[in-house]
Amino acid sequence: MNARPTQDAMQALVTGWVRPEVRALTAYHVPDASGLVKLDAMENPYSWPQELVREWLDVLASVPLNRYPDPHAAPLKDRLREAFALPADADILLGNGSDELIQLLLMAVAGPGRKVLAPEPTFSMYRMISTFVGLEFVGVPLRRDYSLDLAATLAAIREQQPAVVFLAYPNNPTGNLFSAADMAEIIAASPGVVVVDEAYSAFCDASFIGELGRWPNLLVLRTLSKLGLAGLRLGFLVGPHAWLHELDKIRLPYNINVLTQASAEFALRRFDVLAEQTARISADREDMHAQLAAMPGITPYASQANFILFKGPAGRAAQLFNAIKARGVLIKSMHGAHPALADCLRVTVGTADENAAFLSALRASLDA
Ligand SMILES: *Cc1c(COP(=O)(O)O)cnc(C)c1O
Repeated sequence: MNARPTQDAMQALVTGWVRPEVRALTAYHVPDASGLVKLDAMENPYSWPQELVREWLDVLASVPLNRYPDPHAAPLKDRLREAFALPADADILLGNGSDELIQLLLMAVAGPGRKVLAPEPTFSMYRMISTFVGLEFVGVPLRRDYSLDLAATLAAIREQQPAVVFLAYPNNPTGNLFSAADMAEIIAASPGVVVVDEAYSAFCDASFIGELGRWPNLLVLRTLSKLGLAGLRLGFLVGPHAWLHELDKIRLPYNINVLTQASAEFALRRFDVLAEQTARISADREDMHAQLAAMPGITPYASQANFILFKGPAGRAAQLFNAIKARGVLIKSMHGAHPALADCLRVTVGTADENAAFLSALRASLDA
């Protein structure tokens, strides 16, 4: 009988086979929120009215769990077209969250010397997924006010010739919308594809959906997560057939499960309920921004999303984060994620009660 392998032998084996860029990564960390007011992940805080939950459960009761999902989910795509007024001549590709679509696109273009570019700070998955599929990630710093540095971005595009450029619109974690005119110049100057990531479209009026077809290299990425269905994991990429047709080949055939398909179709038929919730969140965001702006030592940034980035007194981000948490509210410290985010924290807009709990925890923590 073999002796059990030692830890050292095991580690040598793993080190020998797992690519160095993967070993150098830190797994995406999701903090434990049990017992806390959860304002860290841009979730919609509202549930559905009882009568709607009952109707939804009736729908789920008839879903055949013994069968594989519809691989093309055509009825769901029709609902998405309708709900989001997607252009009739644009294709749709569904993903298990928009994260999966980012991964699909990057797997399709990955190869020696290939690069991905995005302004930074931005959504951390662009860099993380680029790295683990073997692409080089190039971050171009945003200006001090988190607007695009157009000249630097165009110069980097010329020099690096990126296969993919990501523009989060509004940007996460800064919350602002980039200039649409600057974005148009970036799209026109990009040799590869440009993904406009509209994860927060429910909280602003701006979108590039109407620009689809104007350039051959524009794709728009959306998700139902921030809208109020984060648990379902449904993202969609919209754009020219030529691109999505290729990406569809590397999509695993049953990536959208039967419960997600049925639930998303149901929810989109009652889009009014979600729209009412997101309108309330946008209004409450303005209240929260005003209250933050009135606090000594706190500088909130203007946001077009369902969260607010704010700067606290120098050197206190970790202490504030912990003190707010000790008072029962979980937000996110962005300090250390990027030099431009020094002393910054990010809070998701929750219900009126949750927002009040956060603001009083912050007030008390500042005095502590
Ligand atoms: C949250 C977020 C996503 C991820 O959305 P999922 O559909 O839940 O995977 C994508 N892009 C940005 C900018 C985000 O903030």
